[in-house]
Amino acid sequence: MEHAWDVIVIGAGVAGLTSAALLAAEGARVLVLERHTLVGGCASFFQRQGYRFDVGATVAGGFGARGIHRRLFAHLGTSLPATRLEPAMHVHLPGTTIVRWGDERWIAERRRHFGVESEPFWQQQERIADAAWRLALHTPAVPHDLLGIRTTLQAVSVRDIPLLLRCLGRSLASIVPTDRLLRRFIDAQLLITAQASAAATDLVYGATALDLAREGVFHLPDGIATIATTLARAVQHRGGKIRYRSEVVAITLDQREHANGVVLHDGTRYEARQIISALPIRETLACLPASTNLTLRRRVAQRQSGWGAFTAYVGLPAGTVPDDFPLHHQIIDDIEGPLGEGRSLFLSFSAMHEQRRARNGGRAVTISTHTDPRRWQRAYADGTYETERAALGERLLAGLERILPGSRACADLIEFATPHTFARYTGHTDGAVGGYPQRPWQAHLTAFSHRSGIAGLALCGDTVFPGQSTVGVSLSGIIAARACGARVKLDTSSV
Ligand SMILES: Cc1cc2nc3c(=O)[nH]c(=O)nc-3n(C[C@H](O)[C@H](O)[C@H](O)COP(=O)(O)OP(=O)(O)OC[C@H]3O[C@@H](n4cnc5c(N)ncnc54)[C@H](O)[C@@H]3O)c2cc1C
Repeated sequence: MEHAWDVIVIGAGVAGLTSAALLAAEGARVLVLERHTLVGGCASFFQRQGYRFDVGATVAGGFGARGIHRRLFAHLGTSLPATRLEPAMHVHLPGTTIVRWGDERWIAERRRHFGVESEPFWQQQERIADAAWRLALHTPAVPHDLLGIRTTLQAVSVRDIPLLLRCLGRSLASIVPTDRLLRRFIDAQLLITAQASAAATDLVYGATALDLAREGVFHLPDGIATIATTLARAVQHRGGKIRYRSEVVAITLDQREHANGVVLHDGTRYEARQIISALPIRETLACLPASTNLTLRRRVAQRQSGWGAFTAYVGLPAGTVPDDFPLHHQIIDDIEGPLGEGRSLFLSFSAMHEQRRARNGGRAVTISTHTDPRRWQRAYADGTYETERAALGERLLAGLERILPGSRACADLIEFATPHTFARYTGHTDGAVGGYPQRPWQAHLTAFSHRSGIAGLALCGDTVFPGQSTVGVSLSGIIAARACGARVKLDTSSV
């Protein structure tokens, strides 16, 4: 064994870095192993010809009064200059654009588009979300025994218990009125926050996901990767180490089947008292002997894999984007039919005068659509990969033209990424990203938890509770750090 550490964290995405920073802050000797040359994973960046692009995630939440990032950074003795964006985004549907305000202007906007008759739905959505946020303040884990259930119940405000119990096992669609425009709007918003439509999304998860704008969408200097780079600095500041180009291929167990180390692709071994895997759960299981964790393996095998992402990165020179152009847009092609595969897009622009994200006053744009990763495996196998990439790329650029006519012709740079690209850069071998869709009976209490079933091995990341987003995975990182002995109690005094 080359070294002995208190904790080894596998993967320097936001989840792993959250755990590592919290444990290092308590004096643990922490080693983070990352296969890539940068931190951040799906919330990272890359640079090309003077532009700095967010690779996947672009919308930063979690910096409001009850936001997990703001409270986590305060706990770590650092902060980020996050500026709230109003509106959070523009949602372009056929024939209309809905402005997603996060403040009281949202009430007038939703009445204008969906009528006063939709008010009971919005009020119920906000009541459920408020109850969930109040519970999330206590950073609860999925309970696995009577003590855990008691701790969770103690964290729930008494007045919220009947409401949350009534939501159990129901989908968000069970409270959405039948209005077509409203249903389409909700389905599109949930696709980017819960990875599924209203009919397939758990009610509590969906109501909370729809609260993104009300909780606050923020602009971060240098893009969303600033969350990971700030956490990485916090790890190193407290003596933790991050090793790059270090792909973990095996997690080793001692005779009692207690995790005690890892092996890298080049055969290097490291040992530690505890391991945290921040990889997708399938990738973690692939690092363990096939005879272990049979129950978890069965549960994972039954779970349908999530979506992949197809993205375009466009560098636009100065003068192409109006100064006051909103930074985030969702575009939906049709009022009915499936979403994803170019029929629904998400576009994010770097802000004006962000010199480090775009040279000479230009803008770095990330455009994404949900896509089935299996489609790209088939295309690769039958030789149609390039043609399909070009065709879907055209749809993304057509979306950019729709909200910014003439921009495509001015572009300095256009690049595309498929689920294959995401697999190569993030190590999600099947190209699926963003965790599992948050279905009823597969979300919160019934999600995969931080417990791996193997002593000394905790899990975090977007395939375990509470799920996708930098906010979600930070909570999972806090829970994993706590499982390894960190005493994390985030401040709630300003809430
Ligand atoms: C296109 C797209 C758009 C998104 N939009 C948003 C958004 O706007 N807002 C938002 O909050 N969230 C968004 N998300 C979701 C969010 O990015 C993720 O949920 C979150 O970043 C996942 O973090 P993680 O730490 O769990 O995993 P990852 O980010 O996947 O990090 C895992 C890390 O582990 C490393 N790794 C993998 N295998 C190994 C190995 N064997 N050994 C060592 N290291 C390894 C990877 O290189 C990576 O750095 C988006 C995701 C995508 C793909």
